[in-house]
Amino acid sequence: MNTPQKKIAVLGSTGSIGIQALDVIASHPDLLQAEVLTANHNASLLIEQARKYNPNAVVIANESLYEQVKQVLADTDVKVYAGENALCSVLQMDSIDIVLTALVGYSGLKPTISAIEAGKSIALANKETLVVAGDLITRLAREKGVNIYPVDSEHSAIFQCLVGEFHNKIEKIILTASGGPFRGKKRDALAAVTKAQALKHPNWTMGAKVTIDSATLMNKGLEVIEAKWLFGLTPDQVDVVVHPQSIIHSLVQFEDGSIKAQMGLPDMRLPIQFAFSYPERFKSDFPRFDFAQYPSLTFEKPDTETFRNLALAFEALKKAGNMPCVLNAANEIAVEAFLKDKIGFLKMPEVVEECMAKMHFVPNPTLEDYVNTDRETRIKAYELIN
Ligand code: MG
Repeated sequence: MNTPQKKIAVLGSTGSIGIQALDVIASHPDLLQAEVLTANHNASLLIEQARKYNPNAVVIANESLYEQVKQVLADTDVKVYAGENALCSVLQMDSIDIVLTALVGYSGLKPTISAIEAGKSIALANKETLVVAGDLITRLAREKGVNIYPVDSEHSAIFQCLVGEFHNKIEKIILTASGGPFRGKKRDALAAVTKAQALKHPNWTMGAKVTIDSATLMNKGLEVIEAKWLFGLTPDQVDVVVHPQSIIHSLVQFEDGSIKAQMGLPDMRLPIQFAFSYPERFKSDFPRFDFAQYPSLTFEKPDTETFRNLALAFEALKKAGNMPCVLNAANEIAVEAFLKDKIGFLKMPEVVEECMAKMHFVPNPTLEDYVNTDRETRIKAYELIN
């Protein structure tokens, strides 16, 4: 069978996921092609990638870098655009089959909406988009007949377990969490942990935002909300179990009690590739799992008293409306402040909790409500920090 080549727009090509996605694309030149690359401000890496992968177009979001990128690529036929509007409009290109959203945080929301409106399949690596506005995004995707393929390893695992089972009811899903670098520690020990310690994830190599979120368990909280929207579940149908070896990437329990798990070594290239290759699997040379190297896989309950963020995410999900948007905005500001050494580790969940208590609740938000909630929560979070 001849599989047609899929052309991919990589939003956030200079980030951790973007770089790994380009690696996957380059390994399958007959099957995959990088059609559009976009970056926020890393002009030098974007230029290097444009030369190496020869896309149709590149977009640099930071407009002050346009001239630089344009000039350096003048001897190529790569089209160069700049600005957030260009980023949204370039996604209309007929030649694009799949849009990989690997932007960090809330900034992924508008481009994802543009891509869905243009009828493009989404490979979703930007979990915050579904956390902030899951109802709006999934409704729009249904209206436009657009598929959203998860790239997050846990959600890819669930998706892989569901292949061939899409008509069978899910009783619950179980998201696995590594527990991060501070698993087993209590509040006293966490008060003094440093940025450098928090950035050392035991199993995964990822961007700074998601690595800090993993250390606070907020990442798992965001993933619980992401899973609710991707798989149409109620909050009670989502469980979290700590699994420090990160070999089982998540599990689905069906109505007959059967549990399916997806496993393998932690390597983001696999879920990225599956989002591109579905419904097929492409041959890969990723390192293989060896049972002899892992005599035991262990599991424990998450400590939500110490790691408050996971409990707060469940609360936000149950409250619904704009509350997950509040949770996300407060967390983005808190993580940024922690990364700038402005606040300690334990202050992060405090900022989130206080914003959730103080912000105006909107039960059925529109896009405008989300935009306002995001902005107002950020202002509130800044006040709490400074
Ligand atoms: Mg994940």
